[in-house]
Amino acid sequence: MKLILLGPPGAGKGTQAKMLTDHFGIPQISTGDILRAAVKDGTPMGLRAKGYMDSGLLVPDEVVVGIVRERLQQSDCKSGFILDGFPRTVPQADALRETLESLAKDLDAVISLKVDTEALVGRLTGRRTCRQCGRGFHVVFDPPRQTGSCDACGGELYQRDDDREETIRKRLSVYSEQTAPLEAYYTGAGLLASVDGMLEINVVQQRIRGILQAR
Ligand code: ADP
Ligand code: ADP
Ligand code: ZN
Repeated sequence: MKLILLGPPGAGKGTQAKMLTDHFGIPQISTGDILRAAVKDGTPMGLRAKGYMDSGLLVPDEVVVGIVRERLQQSDCKSGFILDGFPRTVPQADALRETLESLAKDLDAVISLKVDTEALVGRLTGRRTCRQCGRGFHVVFDPPRQTGSCDACGGELYQRDDDREETIRKRLSVYSEQTAPLEAYYTGAGLLASVDGMLEINVVQQRIRGILQAR
């Protein structure tokens, strides 16, 4: 199963990707998680990315394209992968197509999660993220069993710096300008399927699996 999850910040990409990973046993490739780990470790790539991320802007294409190109060549991606948060621009999508061609792999589907803008703001301001495994929770919609710690790994939950209202608005406008055109891009490629991301987390998961089974 080779899959892209597409959708604005807060649409539920990370939540759904982690559930699909557990179900299908294929890795989630989240460029956001990889970049946050690089920032935390203070690597040259992290130092370069941090300013963009803090301002809600996209990190330059060549940085993320490099990350994904390397990651896709690792052996655990042989039987499939879930791309979460990549591609986010048309040049990234073009680079992905070239990389997959060179590895003789084809995408099975691009799932677009549709969520109203006001709901996105409420989701992102209430999001809490695990420092250790990156899993997302929500103070109201998906609370952890124990306040402040991750159900999956016990790691500490924190609020991401970019999950503040001003930065959220910026990220949403960046999405409509730079990422939303990918819907037409993948419709043209015959790969896009839309899912109502306003439904409950488990229902969204069932809809996604239904689409994947049909392909
Ligand atoms: P969200 O899950 O809220 O959409 P992510 O964790 O995917 O956020 O991304 C956080 C930040 O990391 C983005 O605002 C951006 O600065 C950077 N980033 C992640 N993926 C990409 C990408 N594919 N291209 C450019 N920047 C990216
Ligand atoms: P993305 O990776 O697309 O930015 P996340 O998966 O991190 O989005 O979800 C954003 C926030 O919304 C998280 O706090 C998550 O718990 C919550 N969330 C995810 N899916 C749903 C849903 N279907 N209904 C309500 N809240 C959701
Ligand atoms: Zn965790």
